[in-house]
Amino acid sequence: MQLPVAQSWYSVQRIDDGLRLILEDHVDPAWRCNIWHVSGRDKDILVDSGMGVVPLKSEIALLRERPVACLATHCHYDHVGGQHEFDERLSHAAEAGIMAAPSRANTVADLFVTEELFSALPPQGLDIAGYNVSPAAPTRTVAEGDIVDLGDRAFEVLHLPGHSPGCIALWEAASGTLFSGDIVYDGELFDTLYHSDIDSYIASLERLRALPVTVVHGGHFTSFGSARLLELIDFNLQRWQRR
Ligand SMILES: [Zn+2]
Ligand SMILES: [Zn+2]
Repeated sequence: MQLPVAQSWYSVQRIDDGLRLILEDHVDPAWRCNIWHVSGRDKDILVDSGMGVVPLKSEIALLRERPVACLATHCHYDHVGGQHEFDERLSHAAEAGIMAAPSRANTVADLFVTEELFSALPPQGLDIAGYNVSPAAPTRTVAEGDIVDLGDRAFEVLHLPGHSPGCIALWEAASGTLFSGDIVYDGELFDTLYHSDIDSYIASLERLRALPVTVVHGGHFTSFGSARLLELIDFNLQRWQRR
């Protein structure tokens, strides 16, 4: 199959004054990650960075104009491909080693990156079989309870392992906003990857159950509110109880 060549790779959707959603237009919507851009007074934060197939900064002026810290919710290829473009990179210590030395196996690219993932190729081409994330060790590791401060907005880091050992979420208590990465989103959760752990995953979802959430912006698919969060948590907890 010959894939067409894309004219542009990313689209940017404005969610509100302080939040934009960046998407990789030619990666299958069932698999591409949500790249969240949060604007702050002193600096911005990018929650995840996509596959890195096309440089983010070359297409998106927003990312060149102001200081941006790039936070990785976890080390999987769909979330960390653009990290190397940013001078400030935050992630959990449990996956720092993978980000410094990514492979197709340790980022799970070998399971998912095939020609079927794409509807077009970038103008500069793409070696799909040879695809790998560029190495980019975190410049700062973050842990449970750390605050990511943007000046006028502050996000608390929640360490919620299970999908992978270093999964982190960002929680803004003032607005009830949760950026949840792949810990929970409105779709099938993955608990069988090489470093997944279901007991940890159960504990993590039980923690989220107690959080007074207004809106959840996940690592994939559409955002949702507290009622849907509880449905998703309970569905998965019951599924795991039947193991
Ligand atoms: Zn993942
Ligand atoms: Zn993902």
